[in-house]
Amino acid sequence: MELKILRLNRHEEKRLQGGHLWIYSNEVNNRETPLKQFQPGEQVRVQTHSGKFIGTAYVNPHSLICARLFSRESQVLDNTLLLHRLKKALSLRARLFEEPFYRLVYGESDLLPGLVVDRFGDHLSVQLNSAGMEMLKSEIIDALKTLLDPKSILLRNDGSIRQLEGLTQEIEIAHGKSPKEVELLENGVKMLAPLHDGQKTGWFFDQRPNRAMLKHYVPGKRVLDVFSYVGSFAIQAAVFGAKEVMAVDSSRFALEMAEKNAVLNGVDNIFSGAEGDAFDVLKALRQENEQFDVIVVDPPAFIKRKKDHKEGLRAYHRINELAMRLLKDDGLLLSASCSMHLQRDELMDVLRSGGRRLDRHVQVLFEGIQGPDHPVHPAIPETCYLKAFLAQVSKE
Ligand code: SAH
Repeated sequence: MELKILRLNRHEEKRLQGGHLWIYSNEVNNRETPLKQFQPGEQVRVQTHSGKFIGTAYVNPHSLICARLFSRESQVLDNTLLLHRLKKALSLRARLFEEPFYRLVYGESDLLPGLVVDRFGDHLSVQLNSAGMEMLKSEIIDALKTLLDPKSILLRNDGSIRQLEGLTQEIEIAHGKSPKEVELLENGVKMLAPLHDGQKTGWFFDQRPNRAMLKHYVPGKRVLDVFSYVGSFAIQAAVFGAKEVMAVDSSRFALEMAEKNAVLNGVDNIFSGAEGDAFDVLKALRQENEQFDVIVVDPPAFIKRKKDHKEGLRAYHRINELAMRLLKDDGLLLSASCSMHLQRDELMDVLRSGGRRLDRHVQVLFEGIQGPDHPVHPAIPETCYLKAFLAQVSKE
């Protein structure tokens, strides 16, 4: 197939040559190759201003990121290349994990920009987050079937990111019988993930190593899991030997799932859920003089867009201070942020300033990022979004 050319403005090839995969609309030479001539998802050959070949990409003329490279060679993204990329993604995960529960495809980092595939054994949960991937929907489903012969494929195309690409929001079963809930194994613990009604793809695989980080520190301890979702930290802590775990979330559904997960692991006798706004629940716990040995704070992205930075940062300060107040002397705080607009040093500073305001000595013991099934693309900072610090918080 002969692909049309997308030409860049002068000097705009530097970032791409440095490894990045995105082209912004203001970098395109609109006089010679007007963006509006392209269909959303159309594949193109990208050239520098002087006509030197850079790679192949797909275009979305309606998006600020108007093109994403999927190859440095002159080739189309078709069944063959898709299958090749998926095989590479699978062999990496097979190298990383013994069990088939992981993020199989992490977009740009697996050279499949805009595609997310989470694997729960025989069941897949997929997000097509760009027009380019949306256009390849049936090829992607076919390739996944060829590769894994899964029992089901669910398309969780209800993420807000699709709006930026002008795509509709929908949930669709693309293949087989997709169960409402599916069992997975993580850090040796059985967990149920709600595929259809849960957040994102149903499970946050990214926190796996940070959940494992708790293992040595929770036996015999009282643990609070703030923004618990389906209890991934809380239940794993309970199985690791905690004396008591409490999960806090504003979603009743999430807490009901957490309760189910507690029953599944035979730890429901030491589990409790508190439904409500985490800020209010933590204040109430403080009023009741409750104290915990270990507290996990893993909020939703408080900074969704750059312009929310100031307000979002304040929310990180507030929630971490509330958590520190509930910690026993020498307690452990696992503080995480999934906001790509919050820098690692800013989260560190949240801990520093919380310590100063409450007159506590803070010692950061470990630092985590997302698990290796979400590999970082070294040229794309957005692919390294998860931050987690495990800190001991003490009176001096
Ligand atoms: N810690 C979880 C993921 C958390 S996702 C894990 O490792 O799987 C964020 C969770 O925060 C969601 O379950 C959402 O329901 C909850 N949430 C969002 N805003 C909240 C608020 N203000 N108070 C309490 N929970 C909230």
